[in-house]
Amino acid sequence: MAEKLSAVKGMNDIFAPESAHWEWLEGKVRELMARYAYRNVRTPIVEPTGLFVRGLGEVTDIVEKEMYSFEDRLNGEQLTLRPEATAGVVRAVVEHNLLYDGPKRLYYMGPMFRHERPQRGRYRQFHQVGAEALGFAGPDVDAELIVMAADLWAELGLTDVALEINSLGQPAERSAHRQALIAYLERHIDRLDEDARRRLYSNPLRILDTKNPAMQALVEAAPKLIDYLGAESLAHFNALRELLDAQGIAYRINPRLVRGMDYYNLSVFEFVTTSLGAQGTVCAGGRYDGLIAQIGGKPAPAVGWALGVERILELLKAQNRLPAVPVPDCYAIVPQAGAQATVMRVLRVLRQAGISIQMHAGGPDGQGSMKSQFKKADASGARYALIFGESELAAGQVAVKPLRADGQGSITGQTLLPLTEAATWAARLR
Ligand code: ATP
Ligand code: MG
Repeated sequence: MAEKLSAVKGMNDIFAPESAHWEWLEGKVRELMARYAYRNVRTPIVEPTGLFVRGLGEVTDIVEKEMYSFEDRLNGEQLTLRPEATAGVVRAVVEHNLLYDGPKRLYYMGPMFRHERPQRGRYRQFHQVGAEALGFAGPDVDAELIVMAADLWAELGLTDVALEINSLGQPAERSAHRQALIAYLERHIDRLDEDARRRLYSNPLRILDTKNPAMQALVEAAPKLIDYLGAESLAHFNALRELLDAQGIAYRINPRLVRGMDYYNLSVFEFVTTSLGAQGTVCAGGRYDGLIAQIGGKPAPAVGWALGVERILELLKAQNRLPAVPVPDCYAIVPQAGAQATVMRVLRVLRQAGISIQMHAGGPDGQGSMKSQFKKADASGARYALIFGESELAAGQVAVKPLRADGQGSITGQTLLPLTEAATWAARLR
């Protein structure tokens, strides 16, 4: 036998029954986005490396060490598997001049790629749902996006998802804070870890985001960006807070909340849970008013968030909120191979009427015994067996047998139904 092949480390296969949970969650997301009038956008998985270097900032975890980048062997172009989708969405919006007739509300879902150490809630191929509102200056849209995420948690039945917000102000405000922050960190240089020392002058704000427990006290006492905000930035932040208050959305102001990407300004936020251990951030976002111009577009404000699908599914599981795995309405028992043509014709009529049916399929040794077919019917979880036996077919009928003792179906005992009128009795099988 040939050597077995495995998936790339940190990249998962997803199959039934879990894939049903994914489909269910995706369905909930689509409904939610439609209710908020966000429209779907699909951008390529592969983008020019330069997009992320320019869009995310050179001194970010992602650009420094997490990107899957490679050279196109045919033309030497530098390419990267997208580590996030905001940069790609903005590129697409700019490239197709989508804001020409006004702002846009967009959403996406799909795989992202980051070369991280795989662990619970952290994978190398993972999935995000994201929402972006482009061309809106806020703070109403900032609030809308946050409320929309909160509505999703409620819709999914999730609890223990806490909102944290902060304001990063504008670049000039950040640079005043940056000087104070660097001076403070320099005074405590002996307490900085290697990562922090490396970032001290390139991206000191990110040091506040450290996950190193030994540095928590230090960053806790560092100068707070919010104390450096001017009147306009504060007004934006306070207006957001008022809108959230008015919607009854609880939040905590976390002055140390910064985002992994350089492109954020003003509002930033995260939804965090204590139910998932270390990987507790399930959704994160903020305003990125400078990004569109940075990627070559006409300057326009924008705001968005992205949630981690694996973490949401993990949380749903931890909180017992995953739906029951779907089962077919019926299992078709086909004792004779000669009946297959008729059976398939009837099943199509039933399926067109919306009934889900798992058809017994034979093998090289024939159809198998009735007993083994009934066993499979039971195992399928179907409510009814449709028995296409020789005598039933000869009489132009199919026998419908309830398989579950719950007495919930509309057919309670074994019943014969006419093959030619399947469309009229189909609904009784649900
Ligand atoms: P973290 O601090 O956990 O590394 P991040 O700041 O890099 O997160 P974002 O880039 O903001 O994360 O991505 C938004 C969300 O996507 C995260 O809150 C998380 O739920 C999810 N996410 C990010 N990276 C991964 C990953 N490697 N595996 C699974 N989910 C991820
Ligand atoms: Mg990360």
